Amino acid sequence: MLKAVKVYLETMGCQMNALDSELVGSLLRQSGMELTADPKAADVLLYNTCSVRQHAEEKVHSRLGWACQRKADGKAIVIGVLGCMAQRLGKDLLSRYAGVDLVCGPGQLARLPELLATARDQKQLAVDEVSRASRPRAGKMPATHRSAAVRQGEQEDDIAAGPALDRLYDGRDVLSTHLPGQAYVRIMHGCDHFCSFCIVPFVRGRQESRSPQSIYQECRRLADAGVTQVTLLGQTVNSYSHRPEGGSETRLADLLERLSDIAGLRRLRFVTGYPTDFDDRLLQAMRDLPKVCEFLHVPAQSGSDRMLRAMNRHYTRDEYDQLIDRARSIVPGICIAGDFIVGFPGESEEDHQASADLIRRTRYRNSYIFKYSPRPGTLSAKRLGDDVPEAQKKRRNGELLAVQAQVSLAGNAALIGSNLEVLVEGVSRRSGKQPKGPAAGQVQLIGRSRGDHIVVFDGPKDLAGQYVNVRIESATALTLAGKREA
Ligand code: SF4
Repeated sequence: MLKAVKVYLETMGCQMNALDSELVGSLLRQSGMELTADPKAADVLLYNTCSVRQHAEEKVHSRLGWACQRKADGKAIVIGVLGCMAQRLGKDLLSRYAGVDLVCGPGQLARLPELLATARDQKQLAVDEVSRASRPRAGKMPATHRSAAVRQGEQEDDIAAGPALDRLYDGRDVLSTHLPGQAYVRIMHGCDHFCSFCIVPFVRGRQESRSPQSIYQECRRLADAGVTQVTLLGQTVNSYSHRPEGGSETRLADLLERLSDIAGLRRLRFVTGYPTDFDDRLLQAMRDLPKVCEFLHVPAQSGSDRMLRAMNRHYTRDEYDQLIDRARSIVPGICIAGDFIVGFPGESEEDHQASADLIRRTRYRNSYIFKYSPRPGTLSAKRLGDDVPEAQKKRRNGELLAVQAQVSLAGNAALIGSNLEVLVEGVSRRSGKQPKGPAAGQVQLIGRSRGDHIVVFDGPKDLAGQYVNVRIESATALTLAGKREA
């Protein structure tokens, strides 16, 4: 019997990439390959990459340097780059790394077995059509999509990028979900917002929503296989809109209502939200549908109108504040998470303080705070430069983190004494390291509440994937700790 080809698949970046890797893993297994966690044991090394931040790209370069050296030392391996960096830098990667055999953008992953066959069996370079193309122009549809539009005689604005991923969804096997009992489900691709700092619309294409039927079927298959929590994914998930020809529009609120009917599903979540696309119907659906968790991730990026304009975000600080007030008044107990960029070009001390003020006002459960780094191909990189010195960025980053830590601690401390329903993810990384270790047969487990609080408590390992009630006894800015209720 022929030995199965062993594939090492490493994922960088966001939940989108994590999901893409799950789907790719399924596809490769179905094509007779075997996944390995050991890069040294692999016949094929695949890196599913992220272009959103410079740091993520640097990590990929370091991995490719290692892999290509191995190949130069005589190992018979195939090296492939998938995802956003493949899309953005396809040709450059091939000319920079002689060892790279394959590049495949995020919209073409369904073709991966075919591309791998070309690279392995025919000993030829395999490059998908989209990554073959030149870089997109900032503020415009990516060049590849534009030329496709021109070929078909259509207007740019009528075009959606149309990634051909359906084969991946159809063939999905639930063995590969990222945590026991949980799954991500992508409901849309791409983004139409073109924030001036962001590469996503250029590498993931224009916004396109999947049909409600296909999402429903995927969720039902997952629930039948034991998944109880589904997180719906989209770059701006609340912009979801599907309208068949001659039919009526389905928005995210309608989709949540429909998915709530699926027996076996117990929790529905959705990330990430764009501030202008939250209508009251969606907030009311969160309040009225018991399976929908009371959690919003709604990045502000800055608390200053001047910065929001420069970032090409389509709302003002005041409109963002009004959204938060509406969300809190419609959905009792809602938890809100945010994102901020510090050191965006032109950011003054006053702009920075406006962001700190927004964190205090919104009382985020947590925020992802990043230092600005210009991404080639984006509007801000082309037109705005990078004029905030690194030392300032670092200080502002530290200050916002400190403000957020205070806010998070106050929010978490208020939960001491309450009971939270927790979906157990597994054994915590600190299990066995706490001063007073768990009793015999127990480990420290980690799980999430409906509001996405991280909760640790002691219990048997086999609770992973189960729901338990935990009485909260102590809190830090990041974590709640408690005891399992009988
Ligand atoms: S909304 Fe802005 S930041 Fe988010 S994916 Fe779209 S362009 Fe990027």
